[in-house]
Amino acid sequence: MVTLDDILAASERIRDMVRVTPVKAAPGLSRLAGGPVWLKCEHRQETGAFKLRGASNAAARLGEVAGVTTASTGNHGRALAHAARQLGLPAVICVSRLVPQNKLDAIRALDAEARVIGASQDEAFDEARRLQREEGFALIPPFDHPDVIAGQGTLGLEILDQIPDAAAIAVPLSGGGLLAGVALAAKARRPAIRIIGISMERGAAMAASLKAGHPVAVPEQQTLADSLGGGIGLKNRLTFGLCRDLMDDLILLTEDEIAAGIRHLSVEEDEMVEGAAAVGAAAILAGRLRAVDGPLVLILSGQNIDPARHAAIVRGAACPTS
Ligand SMILES: *Cc1c(COP(=O)(O)O)cnc(C)c1O
Repeated sequence: MVTLDDILAASERIRDMVRVTPVKAAPGLSRLAGGPVWLKCEHRQETGAFKLRGASNAAARLGEVAGVTTASTGNHGRALAHAARQLGLPAVICVSRLVPQNKLDAIRALDAEARVIGASQDEAFDEARRLQREEGFALIPPFDHPDVIAGQGTLGLEILDQIPDAAAIAVPLSGGGLLAGVALAAKARRPAIRIIGISMERGAAMAASLKAGHPVAVPEQQTLADSLGGGIGLKNRLTFGLCRDLMDDLILLTEDEIAAGIRHLSVEEDEMVEGAAAVGAAAILAGRLRAVDGPLVLILSGQNIDPARHAAIVRGAACPTS
């Protein structure tokens, strides 16, 4: 289990490894939401996403290991590579042959090894497990791990330090590590606070699992919120139960709604975010999220989007789902 004490300890542990990110008021969204809306600018975190918090906490807690490994090529892989470099640990990020060169370059730029194995994400994951079993590496998963959840929870503590009277926090939701950590921290400090999870309609694995009452697999689909894709793991140990118990509301958005969120944050707030990070703004614009009981905090969770694609979306020229 993960407790407030674990999250407080994580805050101490990663203090010198992550940035305290700013919050700022969003007047346009506040008008639409009927009350004060704040942006938690975690997309300005080192490596461009909150994932550095969980990866840093998990890596810093390791004893003697040969190194760290994972099979994520997205924000978690990048975060783990960065955390490992700060700790002087070797990192091997296992990827399939399908992963594009620019992602390999990004991993290698952080002094990690990008090990190209097999033709699917599953085969890459098998190699990460083999490194764990046979070579003494620690496999750090992207969300379903107590140290990762505690690390993401430090974001919840930081939000309440900055907006002590927050009434609700809107959290982009995929595997649920971010939502579980933020909810544990925020509800320990402020039991009445509401935690609202937001995903895309296309391939929302946590939403389908909660509906089914147990973890289920959903087909992956192209989405603007690419960091919210992927499953929650059929053997999910922690985040499924935590999200079921701690989430007060769940909103699912269309691709057009997410595109409008990206556009609004760029044009009105001058913030360049990836699709996953735009879902809170998108929900307000779609009339699905309001701030009637007090301050509403939107977590802008990451900024890792291809700039040309971002520009096309802002111009309204991109077909959102292609
Ligand atoms: C990973 C990620 C999320 C979702 O986090 P989970 O812990 O998997 O729910 C949201 N936004 C961004 C930018 C991410 O990288």
